[in-house]
Amino acid sequence: MKRKMVYFFGGGKSEGNEKMKELLGGKGANLAEMAGHKDLRLPVPPGFTITTEVCTYYMHGRKYPAGLKKDVEKSIKRIELLMGRKFGDPRNPLLVSVRSGARKSMPGMMETVLNVGLTEKTIPGLIRQSGGNERFVYDAYRRLITMYSDVVMEKAARIEPKNEESGIRRQLESIMNKMKSESGYKSDSELTVEDLKKLCKMFKAKVKEVLGKEFPDGPGQQLWGGIGAVFASWNGKRAVSYRRIEGIPDDWGTAVNVQAMVFGNMGNDSATGVGFTRNPGNGENKFYGEYLINAQGEDVVAGIRTPAPVNEYSKSEHNKGLITLEKSMPKLYRELFDYQRRLEKHYCDMQDIEFTIEKGKLYMLQCRTGKRNGLAAMTMAVDMFKERLITKEEAVMRVTPGQLDELLHPIIDPKAEAAKKPLVKGLPAGPGAASGQIVFTAKDAVEWTKQGKKAILVREETSPEDVEGMRAAQAILTARGGMTSHAALVARGWGKCCIVGAGSMHIDVNKKQINIEEKVIKEGDWVTINGTKGIAYEGGLPMIDALEENKKLDEFLKMCDSIRKLGVRANADTIEDASKARKFGVEGIGLFRTEHMFYGKGSDEPLFILRKMIVSKTESERRKALDELFPYIKKDIKGTLEVMDGLPVVVRLLDPPLHEFVPKDKEKLWLLAKELNISTEELEERAEKLHESNPMMGHRGVRLGITYPEVSETQIRAIFEAAAELIKNGKNPYPEIMIPVVGDANELANQFEIAKRVYSEVLKKYGLREIRHHFGTMIEIPRASLVAGKLAQISEFFSFGTNDLTQMGFGFSRDDIGGFLPDYISKKILPEDPFQSIDHEGIGELIKIGIERGRKARKGLEIGICGEHGGDPRSIEFCHAAKMNYVSCSPFRVPIARLAAAQAAIKFKK
Ligand code: PEP
Ligand code: MG
Repeated sequence: MKRKMVYFFGGGKSEGNEKMKELLGGKGANLAEMAGHKDLRLPVPPGFTITTEVCTYYMHGRKYPAGLKKDVEKSIKRIELLMGRKFGDPRNPLLVSVRSGARKSMPGMMETVLNVGLTEKTIPGLIRQSGGNERFVYDAYRRLITMYSDVVMEKAARIEPKNEESGIRRQLESIMNKMKSESGYKSDSELTVEDLKKLCKMFKAKVKEVLGKEFPDGPGQQLWGGIGAVFASWNGKRAVSYRRIEGIPDDWGTAVNVQAMVFGNMGNDSATGVGFTRNPGNGENKFYGEYLINAQGEDVVAGIRTPAPVNEYSKSEHNKGLITLEKSMPKLYRELFDYQRRLEKHYCDMQDIEFTIEKGKLYMLQCRTGKRNGLAAMTMAVDMFKERLITKEEAVMRVTPGQLDELLHPIIDPKAEAAKKPLVKGLPAGPGAASGQIVFTAKDAVEWTKQGKKAILVREETSPEDVEGMRAAQAILTARGGMTSHAALVARGWGKCCIVGAGSMHIDVNKKQINIEEKVIKEGDWVTINGTKGIAYEGGLPMIDALEENKKLDEFLKMCDSIRKLGVRANADTIEDASKARKFGVEGIGLFRTEHMFYGKGSDEPLFILRKMIVSKTESERRKALDELFPYIKKDIKGTLEVMDGLPVVVRLLDPPLHEFVPKDKEKLWLLAKELNISTEELEERAEKLHESNPMMGHRGVRLGITYPEVSETQIRAIFEAAAELIKNGKNPYPEIMIPVVGDANELANQFEIAKRVYSEVLKKYGLREIRHHFGTMIEIPRASLVAGKLAQISEFFSFGTNDLTQMGFGFSRDDIGGFLPDYISKKILPEDPFQSIDHEGIGELIKIGIERGRKARKGLEIGICGEHGGDPRSIEFCHAAKMNYVSCSPFRVPIARLAAAQAAIKFKK
């Protein structure tokens, strides 16, 4: 390799910087920035980063490129100079940490080895450095043996323990636990120097016995073992499965960071902690963090001890009794406070930081853009824009559609919640609410979810091994750990409902039960989690929509509105849906499916009449039924036009094949026959005639209106009369009449004639001069796209029905894809489900052709989309690029569409 392989940082200088994430990984790039940028130059322990390119090289054949050894040695020398210590020196040894750092953070998924360079020979030197703290040194040594044997000698060597218990880490831990229980100790801190010395000996013997090799006692051996193991951990099981979930490419590789060790566990003037420059749970602009006195960094994240709050603001139910850093080390707190402010100002985003205090000196160990949930992301985006830290465009790009979706998720019905006694309380690590059945292992969470059940994963604490189960579960509940524990970190990243540190739960994984005082909760029992408050309840509580008065969200969406070019409408078939959509800020209804009134609540009567119409034999029979149906249709349309007053409402004429509405059960058939005054046999015969072998391509959509013009006529009359009556009442209705399943301009012309005639009749009847309206078509048959030029000569608007366009473009039956599409995705025949996200190559081309030909024939032709894709962020981006006028989606997706449309506008401006 010719390229530079090692980048140094420290002493106020850096060879890398924050922009070099691809090469140095996120951690390495940020360490370089913190240590060397002229505005920062923070106290970062010196170190160096081996590039991700070296990782990729190493992955092929587990060999290092020539020259790497020399570069690493040189860099170690530079650290030695800055620290005034020497690697491997028995009198004054330098210890280093070896850590992973990929381009994108993968919390806890890869390996770390600390205290590298501590050997039998250097132990006395470290004791001297620590001011004679022998206990600290042997504690560091036993940690090194544990970590090294686990990470380097077992995992990186690809040794598969038979089960969890037989892994080397577990075996060493159980030796220590045995010693503790024999001596009657409750915590690790009670272990004496003699105990620890004995433990180190026993650990080494065990390592030899289990892994068949001596624990290496040479500093160089340890260093290279650590570096190799970190590279190898890129292909470890956990890292691979995390990459699958997060969509991180395998060939990115990880960098390795080797850095001088500083110790937070050198006594009571030492500490370690983590913090966020703003609250990652709700976005408030307050420094939020936790720390532990006399501890190493991993103790905070592992959730073994409950960390203390850094300041008053970070206090919770859980840790309010503990002393804050602000009180215990006020000078250092002020220094830390200043650094975190500077970091946020420098990065213009919320930072997640790690720090260590060694004998009264503060070191910054890490900073990165902090993960946050949807509420926090949105709140910070609005606030930072107002603080002029970021532009409006940047603010809009800071919230992903997925994060916004979190905000729209249900919460527990406050009334039901108020009436219920909490089961347990913990820390609110991931907001929102969820209910489900308790499971105790990640594997069960995956299994139960597959079976269609809602699983709540309950763990003592989670580990990176649990990620798949955490992903599958509705919510996560742990007994231990703080806001920065693994569970909290992962849940926050995913926007998953989560409570951590619910300390009053006693979990018995073997019996699969939880004891809470007198109470016993078993596997399969229902619980409801309020992740916003950190409270769990017994049973499944009712949920309601979360979109209560949220002023910030409103502000945020208005920012989106001021940027986006696409209009956003809703698909709404009922008056309730239309009101909801209006509340969510739509600019109209993009699809009102008339057939909806024949399904669900209150549909009995109109459906019965519709059935009469369907099985009618003659036009007069049919007209009679249609006349009866007329007031129902008019009422529904009128209600919707009224709710949407002033805004366009696309009313689509009847679309589904009529046979769908024929009753199946005997009693209903009999009732219908009676009403029509015919025998059931005759009715069955008429129904049989309607049967089609391929109804999706059969007698539906415009074809119904061609064969039964009176069906279209009745609907069109209902639309115009509804509008006329509203105008008479001083309202401003704006219907757009839409003809579905059109493939030829003559079909449209035929229907247009009917519409023109009915329009003038209605004007006359109501004495009106005009009813504002549009007449248009759906584009959902590939042929319609191709002949769009001709269609546009008649049609005043197009609406792409991408559900059918995808169905007919691919020749995939919408209702039958379950049988083959999963295989198409898993075998990578298709990159994703084309019914969820527009297939650019094929269906997208049809859309582009349709738009181009349509607009050529009619300048300013209004074009929208009303298939399911209208609520999918990536499809929305496509629609923006294709210069549609609007997207239409279900009311709940409207806020997401507003955001996605704004993001598309920003992206394409660039
Ligand atoms: C479509 O085909 O995209 C559409 C909106 O119509 P439907 O789903 O009712 O067929
Ligand atoms: Mg359709």
